[in-house]
Amino acid sequence: MDIIEEMLSYNKSFVEEKKYEAYSTDKYPDKKVAILTCMDTRLTELLPAALGIKNGDAKIIKNAGGVISHPYGSVVRSLLIAILELGVTSIMVIGHTDCGVQNISSAEMQEKLKECGITETALEATAKCGVNYDKWFKGFRSAEESVMETVDILKKHPLIPAQIQIRGFVMNSETGEVEEVRTRGREDALECRLKPTP
Ligand SMILES: [Zn+2]
Repeated sequence: MDIIEEMLSYNKSFVEEKKYEAYSTDKYPDKKVAILTCMDTRLTELLPAALGIKNGDAKIIKNAGGVISHPYGSVVRSLLIAILELGVTSIMVIGHTDCGVQNISSAEMQEKLKECGITETALEATAKCGVNYDKWFKGFRSAEESVMETVDILKKHPLIPAQIQIRGFVMNSETGEVEEVRTRGREDALECRLKPTP
């Protein structure tokens, strides 16, 4: 059976057997925390388990690498909704060891797109429409560096309220152990964001 069909068939019995009752909660995160992390499949259950998070505790935002690729893109939008509508007061940015995004390169990604049948014309046209492939498909040198950069973007962000706590971590993809990444203080970042850019 097709994997999606298999999941749909499982879903029927899940609902019929009322297995959902174990997950009952509301939309407000009990721990008032939002976590930005990677879509890596090793973290699917490990990350919540290693942090003692259950259904209903945290807003978890995931993408490849757990990064902010645009300061006014979907990640910051989600975080603002979490803060303004859902009561989040703390943000954790959690990178992880052996991340698949670490070594990607824009040139390789574009080559792979071509192998999948995407034409050079399509790549050129999208580039003309504003897609900066080198930036969009940029990898990172280390998880620590990436977390540092993401935390910095959030701390300097003009729309993230100053009272929101923002901290960065790297999780071991096997053991779930988290280590805090040293980042700049909010005050330094605030001072920096208030300074007019030359
Ligand atoms: Zn990853």
